[in-house]
Amino acid sequence: MVEAFALTKCFSDFWALQGISLKVSPGEILALLGPNGAGKTTTIRILAAVLRPTSGRATVCGYDVLTDGPAVRSLVGVLTEFPGLYDRMSARSYLEFFGQLHRVPGPVLRRRVSELIDYFGLGEAVDRRLGTLSKGMRQKVALIRALIHDPKVLFLDEPTSAMDPAGARQVRDFIAGLRRSDRATIICTHNLAEAELLADRIAVIARGRIVADGKPGELKRLFAGPPVFELRFTGSPDAAREALDGRVRVVDLGPNYVRYQVDDPGRNPGLVERLVGAGVGVLSLAEVSPSLEDVYLRILGGEGTS
Ligand code: ATP
Repeated sequence: MVEAFALTKCFSDFWALQGISLKVSPGEILALLGPNGAGKTTTIRILAAVLRPTSGRATVCGYDVLTDGPAVRSLVGVLTEFPGLYDRMSARSYLEFFGQLHRVPGPVLRRRVSELIDYFGLGEAVDRRLGTLSKGMRQKVALIRALIHDPKVLFLDEPTSAMDPAGARQVRDFIAGLRRSDRATIICTHNLAEAELLADRIAVIARGRIVADGKPGELKRLFAGPPVFELRFTGSPDAAREALDGRVRVVDLGPNYVRYQVDDPGRNPGLVERLVGAGVGVLSLAEVSPSLEDVYLRILGGEGTS
């Protein structure tokens, strides 16, 4: 549904994108991760046909972003990081105005605005001027604007950054529900927990290049590194550290737990015996599943990017 091949973008003499290729299928949610300035927004702007690439190709639902710009723009819904809202308009008039621009028929538009307003809990705020709404409410209005013409493809830049936890969950549930309607969605986010919850696939961009692309589980297997074990104990942390000294690489030591890596996990039972012998009470021992954050930082570490 969305395909990009070798996209580059040069601003003056700065190469913001240096060959981005990606695919998003119907019903799929792709999270685009990467440090500030990596090129995520630039990629989305090209895919939404609002910015021309310097070279490369991209299509949305088969339409070329370079030659079929109007068709692409009518098929995509875009939530930008800094949506320009018209502060003097009420949220309802603003949404109806954008719906009209997209030629959504009147009765359909009014029903859709009401449904989305109800879903996102905007309530009476919808008849207030946009300039008087809170940041989270404004972000919801911008999201509804992106959805107003029922687009086949959604590009969402930091969709929950201004929202309180309840609002963020509402939006995440909504995005997750998009899978059922066969839409293709790309989310740019710095919220790795959100990416892990929502994304079918994750692409990491650094310095204008995709440096990793895969399902969250695949990326974890590829980039997580040696397994980390967590042992919970009662007794003195110093005694635990002494008993393990030279036998494992301690990653983290707390008052009642130690996280470590060991070259041969088959040595774990021996380590437990040693700890017990040193008077440390072992409560549990388990492998720790790496977080997406660990994996992400490892991927970027390999890139020499902070
Ligand atoms: P963030 O996470 O901070 O939103 P991003 O990954 O979305 O970052 P982009 O906004 O795509 O990054 O920017 C990529 C690079 O291109 C940055 O160095 C940025 O300064 C540069 N850039 C983006 N737009 C322009 C422009 N119109 N003119 C010049 N440089 C630009």
